Amino acid sequence: MLNQGKIRVTNIQRLCVNDGPGVRTVIFLKGCYLCCPWCCNPESINYDSDYFFVKRKCLSDSNQKFCRQCEILAGNRNKQSCPIGVYEHTFRDYTEEELYYQIIRDKLIYESGGGVTFSGGEPLFQAASIKPLVQKLKSENIHVAVETSLYAPHDNLKELNPLIDYWLIDLKFQYGFITNSQYKIVNQFDNNLKSVMSVASSDKILFRMVLMNEALEHSVRIIENLKKYKISVIELLMYHSLAENKYRQLGISFKRFSSPEANGVSSFLSLLRDEGITASYAKI
Ligand code: SF4
Ligand code: SF4
Repeated sequence: MLNQGKIRVTNIQRLCVNDGPGVRTVIFLKGCYLCCPWCCNPESINYDSDYFFVKRKCLSDSNQKFCRQCEILAGNRNKQSCPIGVYEHTFRDYTEEELYYQIIRDKLIYESGGGVTFSGGEPLFQAASIKPLVQKLKSENIHVAVETSLYAPHDNLKELNPLIDYWLIDLKFQYGFITNSQYKIVNQFDNNLKSVMSVASSDKILFRMVLMNEALEHSVRIIENLKKYKISVIELLMYHSLAENKYRQLGISFKRFSSPEANGVSSFLSLLRDEGITASYAKI
């Protein structure tokens, strides 16, 4: 259940240049309906509390008095209550005003063609929570983008759809081929995409997809999906494994994919070209 009246944020990054037009402040929101095995922000998937365990800080080997009560050494005290902060919260809950204050600090960059991007996690997960803030930003002519998979309830999309200036849509066409399963809310993706396309012109939407070798093996079927949804321009994001340490700190298993090889990528680009799909290539 959402913390009413609060916006749950895992991170705020300033001066970003790959998350929409111009220089932007990116707000990473917590909570996602999906669980992509290549996710590079795993701390943003679970809305409910989780912690990073910073192992190098832990003094369990040094016979400290305060460690003796810790459950790590079979004591009674919850390890998340570590007095020296070995467990760090993955998020902070902001009121609308508090988050507005964080955003408005970068007002100058918004006046020179930049803006604010809500990312995550899945920003539509907290659509109702961020709507008043987005309305306030819009009333001050601040450009607002959302980075979403569109795998979210249609009602959540409706909260924000008319307010958003720019959409970064992370396609998940590789997911089913890699994991041999499909997301259950695929129909909502269809509906959501139709709704966004009915409101936003094509220059206000950037389609992106993470590419790994395992996805390239299914290039033809991925292209069939791009054609099915009439997607003619796409940015390919190269898979990396830089988030491995975060998975370790969260205590969840990390699945490693292989970075796309140059030959595979150029064959994929050539297949895309043959179908009239323009692709660019970027690092995440
Ligand atoms: S109290 Fe903190 S430092 Fe000590 S064992 Fe527990 S988590 Fe580690
Ligand atoms: S949709 Fe994005 S945030 Fe959610 S699990 Fe997938 S990669 Fe991570």
